[in-house]
Amino acid sequence: MSEEVFKALVLRHIERKTLANIERLTEDALPEGDVLVAVEYSSLNYKDGLAVTGKGKVALVFPLVPGIDLAGTVLRSESPAFKPGDRIVVTGWGIGERHWGGYAQKARVQSGWILPMPMGLNARRAMAIGTAGFTAMLCVMALEDAGVAPDSGPVLVTGAGGGVGSIAVAVLANLGYHVTALTGRSEIHGSLRELGALEIIDRTSMEAPPHPLESQRWAGAVDTVGGKILARVLAETYYRGAVAACGLAGGHDLPATVMPFILRGVSLLGVESVLCPMPRRKKAWKRLERDLPMAMLDRLTRVISLEDVPAVAEEILAGKVHGRVVVDLNT
Ligand code: NDP
Repeated sequence: MSEEVFKALVLRHIERKTLANIERLTEDALPEGDVLVAVEYSSLNYKDGLAVTGKGKVALVFPLVPGIDLAGTVLRSESPAFKPGDRIVVTGWGIGERHWGGYAQKARVQSGWILPMPMGLNARRAMAIGTAGFTAMLCVMALEDAGVAPDSGPVLVTGAGGGVGSIAVAVLANLGYHVTALTGRSEIHGSLRELGALEIIDRTSMEAPPHPLESQRWAGAVDTVGGKILARVLAETYYRGAVAACGLAGGHDLPATVMPFILRGVSLLGVESVLCPMPRRKKAWKRLERDLPMAMLDRLTRVISLEDVPAVAEEILAGKVHGRVVVDLNT
């Protein structure tokens, strides 16, 4: 085992507060796992914001290295599936929640969680996609599986300026869907149009409590916000349309009625990324390589250092981050 010191952001729970500090660790501090990884990049998702600030019950063990995503190179492996030098990605499976995650220059993980780096990606772009982009693609695939096609009619993306939302807009537009973006921020309208949104609507226009059924506007939707906006989206969805729900940035409640389901045959599709089985994971990452224009992804990506994470964690919870935040472990 190497005595070499590496840098990590560590969460500690002290006097009922979550404190995040950069610490110097050695490998013996790392948790169990059969693969040791040199982490090059991680990313900052909404859930990381909740963990790092302590504002959500995401960190389930202390001390914890947060970071629900990581990409890098295998240093040592006890698994025949991986060897030193392999380029890999891990998202979800509880890293950054119950198992130490990506905000450290080294991580020890289970081989069963590892995805070989998709051919067309590097570590930085894989983390620009990260859990948010992977989830956006799972939402797109859920809509496709439910029969929502580009010629079905307009599709809505809520929380369009966020990580999941921005990537969902870019992918759906690239696939030929007529995309409407819902956002609370007028300053990002231009950027959403560049991603391919044909129409943009203001969040406040969808915040009023809906009637059980409203005029039909959407063949499908990707919802990242939940709450009263999801209730309205359901009431506005076409006969036999579908809504992929993955997020709660606007609330975890759902003040809706069953009318859209029983009178219009609307489907509400739950999307979950953490424990998504490996075959569907691989399929989603392949689709991302094919269907997400890399120039768009680069335009959406901001790179920060480990030291910046606590401040940017506050920003993401305040809804001030547009697109994706990548954490460079080597600056
Ligand atoms: P971001 O913070 O990047 O995006 C969330 C967006 O939601 C914001 O940019 C904002 O968009 C909008 N928003 C923020 N606050 C409100 C509000 N009060 N009411 C309505 N809209 C709001 O987060 P991510 O994209 O990383 O994640 C989005 C959601 O999806 C989160 O709830 C996250 O936990 C969830 N998620 C779930 C996963 C799963 O496996 N199910 C995986 C990944 C994410 P705008 O300014 O454009 O309106």
